Amino acid sequence: MDSNSRLFAQNGDPAFPKIVLPDIPDLSRIEVYEANGGYSALKKALGMAPEAVTDEVKKSGLRGRGGAAFPTGLKWTFMPKGTEKPKYLAINADESEPGSFKDRQILEYNPHQLVEGILIASYAMGITSAYIYIRGEYYKWMMILQGAIDEAFSRGYIGDNIAGSNYSVNVYVHRGAGAYICGEESGLMESIEGKRGYPRVKPPFPAQNGLWGNPTTINNVETITNVPAIIWNGAEWFSKIGASKHPGTLLFGVSGHVKNPGVFELPSGTLLTEIIYNYAGGVIGDKKIKMVIPGGSSMPPIRGDQLDGVKMDADSLRTVGSAIGTGGVIVMDEDTDLTSVLLRVAKFYWHESCGQCTPCREGTGWIRKILQRICDGGGKTEDLDLLNRIANNIEGNTICALGDAAAWPIKFTIQRFRNELEEEILSKARAKSAA
Ligand code: SF4
Repeated sequence: MDSNSRLFAQNGDPAFPKIVLPDIPDLSRIEVYEANGGYSALKKALGMAPEAVTDEVKKSGLRGRGGAAFPTGLKWTFMPKGTEKPKYLAINADESEPGSFKDRQILEYNPHQLVEGILIASYAMGITSAYIYIRGEYYKWMMILQGAIDEAFSRGYIGDNIAGSNYSVNVYVHRGAGAYICGEESGLMESIEGKRGYPRVKPPFPAQNGLWGNPTTINNVETITNVPAIIWNGAEWFSKIGASKHPGTLLFGVSGHVKNPGVFELPSGTLLTEIIYNYAGGVIGDKKIKMVIPGGSSMPPIRGDQLDGVKMDADSLRTVGSAIGTGGVIVMDEDTDLTSVLLRVAKFYWHESCGQCTPCREGTGWIRKILQRICDGGGKTEDLDLLNRIANNIEGNTICALGDAAAWPIKFTIQRFRNELEEEILSKARAKSAA
């Protein structure tokens, strides 16, 4: 077997390739990565025109894996050409969305493919400095990543005239200090610049006015880790995997009330029930499912009795009123207390609000207080309308997406679980008066 195909499309079954998390032991070591075809895609890319590399990624249909599912190749074309200004690549390894823990698997088990992807992306966009922004809590993974970068540098893949070409690029790791808002792209750039991670008003967008006022592209870890496989195998190969409008594999991080939580790499468009029952082992105690959040805590939840036929890709989830987000699937069984879940989520967003926008700063606090009162037995069913009004006043009225992230779980859980929430409010009020 061609050693290169072992890394990028191995496992024997081409319908189920493991693109970003191949089952190859010790792949984080550079000699193992190289022995399995690693850094061959970089050499191939360096022999292509930069525009041809971008074209290949564009044709592949690769979409961002960080939440918005924006077409990656198209994003790369936004970088201005012929400018004298330095251009930057920033890789978002902040992974701060609750329920999302998939990127750290790549950092731990396949960091060189991420590095190779960064080098190819930098070459395609004419970038000479790339930053990987990693959350402060990911110290272990930061050390692994830095080790991989040092190894790649010592082998001549990073630095001057990489792999014997005339192209030079440096890669830096930048540690955050553990703030959700630094996973938002403009907050992330502020943090890399050494400032407080306040999100910026957009426009201007990063491709025009990014790091230090220069053109910048921001991509997620999983997104970029797909790039070497696309360059090696070609756009057509990638475009045929999974859902046609959102091709490739996705990393699904499954948590909550399942028997076998973990990260599973599966073709996009895999049925949500297959992920939960076949891969995550089903629900603990074989209970029914009350609610599933399909893409990290801020995504609209799906009712447990409406899971049949739901496919996990951006377009399919939109048709059922949710979104793929980061692929962080949170499963909650029939005994889950939803008002407690909402309070937990609300506390998180209230704590993480940076305070710049009034609707977010004040609204998240009001939501938290009302939910606390409900959980303490002092709630009324009309509180759900009040919560809804506050969420609607936050949504779309803030500088960054944290506002929507705080509003959506409230708004959509009320919309889809009104009866259950009313029962919980009344039952908690009864328990308080009986005490
Ligand atoms: Fe800060 Fe919230 Fe406004 Fe985002 S929405 S900028 S987190 S106050």
